[in-house]
Amino acid sequence: MEFNQSTIHELQEKIKNGSVTASQITESVFSRIDAVEERVHSYIRLMKENALAAAKKADEDIKKGDIKPLTGIPIALKDILCTKGITTTCGSHILHNFVPPYNATVVEKLTAAGAVFVGKANMDEFAMGSSTETSWFGPTRNPWDLERIPGGSSGGSATAVAADECIASIGSDTGGSIRQPAALCGVVGLKPTYGRVSRFGLIAFASSLDQIGPFTKDVEDCAIMMNVLAGYDPKESTSVNAEVPDYRQFVGRDIKGWKIGIPKEYFIEGIDPEITAAIQQAIKVIELCGGVCVDISLPHTQYCVAVYYIIAPAEASSNLARYDGVRYGFRAADVRELLEMYKESRRQGFGAEVKRRIMIGTYALSAGYYDAYYKKASQVRALIKKDFDEAFKKCDVILTPTTPTPAFKIGEKTDDPLQMYLSDVFTISTNLAGIPGISVPCGYSTSGLPIGVQFLASHFEEGKLIQIASAYEKNAKIEKRRPAL
Ligand code: GLN
Repeated sequence: MEFNQSTIHELQEKIKNGSVTASQITESVFSRIDAVEERVHSYIRLMKENALAAAKKADEDIKKGDIKPLTGIPIALKDILCTKGITTTCGSHILHNFVPPYNATVVEKLTAAGAVFVGKANMDEFAMGSSTETSWFGPTRNPWDLERIPGGSSGGSATAVAADECIASIGSDTGGSIRQPAALCGVVGLKPTYGRVSRFGLIAFASSLDQIGPFTKDVEDCAIMMNVLAGYDPKESTSVNAEVPDYRQFVGRDIKGWKIGIPKEYFIEGIDPEITAAIQQAIKVIELCGGVCVDISLPHTQYCVAVYYIIAPAEASSNLARYDGVRYGFRAADVRELLEMYKESRRQGFGAEVKRRIMIGTYALSAGYYDAYYKKASQVRALIKKDFDEAFKKCDVILTPTTPTPAFKIGEKTDDPLQMYLSDVFTISTNLAGIPGISVPCGYSTSGLPIGVQFLASHFEEGKLIQIASAYEKNAKIEKRRPAL
């Protein structure tokens, strides 16, 4: 097996016993990128020189016996994370030339843990999308079928892991943007609890929903990444000062006697029968692991998409007001006066989907409509959260499909925003409630497309997610295939 195909924990062993150097790992990742990147387009920007220098530094540390949790491990960063001195675009024309003067906290944490950054991964513009087709830099393709989307908005981060163009990556999830592409690309993706991971330096989309999390090749790697990412940050007012457990201790533990909630609202008409079959199979595996399935109800599920598409655009319309061409980013040329400069910079700088969200959000917040839309949506959001609070009195973990269908074709949903929005029916509720969720590979469709199963737990119970996901991964024995690129 090539080094770039290995997991973090496999490479850690090899680094410790001296059978591989950080430079060799990084070189194997870049030779894979040379071979496949043109076809998949996972990255907006590669950081080869920095990466090779970081790997060399890692090798010096290794020689001195200074081995940290991610020493020499090549990691991709979604281009929504500020990187000091390195262009950070958020997939948008309006930020195509933005060079942040500081690092996001997670970038600092990964650096301190010894990570080697491979590049900035492609994404839907401002993380608005489910297919990575709205990127100003062009779409990313699903490595399992180049005619299909990889999911979104963190499609580049998911693809980079699935196509072995990095070992692990970072994404962000506002309504499903880690879990949905993880499912469609056949990798593990975790959205932590709201407040678990600092968002300092994450370009804001919808601030009451955004979270940062990892994409990995297996569950143990997810635990390793969470050990690095989680924790309080005085620079971020919503980050929670709560103890961070060693997530790795949850790997390999059994789940005997755990109650697994199966919400009836997530097994509805319109789901692809192959997804239903894969999820039924996953339920059987969980029962074989000693889990006891219980029927539960999350009665307000049907309102999730509608509530999200008021709250997220409302917050986005406010967050994106800062892009005006004045201090940084794109500024329109040939304008005569200030107001025209604002208007033209925004008109030329934002893509169609971002403009749609800004308009929906501005409308929902405007005088006379605020109570009918934003206030009402916030009230229903509280009911959605209450549904989960009630459910977790009856079960330890909830099991659902991650997506209603496997990866769809490029262009299939671009003319129909509602259809696109519905790709997140099973992931959005998690963000509205602020709870953590993980997607784990659970099989393939007959045409060879990956399928994911989602586990949800109560606030700050990421450990439980890792425990059940690891038990599932071990016992399901899903055949490990690699995309034939
Ligand atoms: N697809 C959803 C949206 O377009 C979620 C995106 C996300 O999680 N960033 O808003």
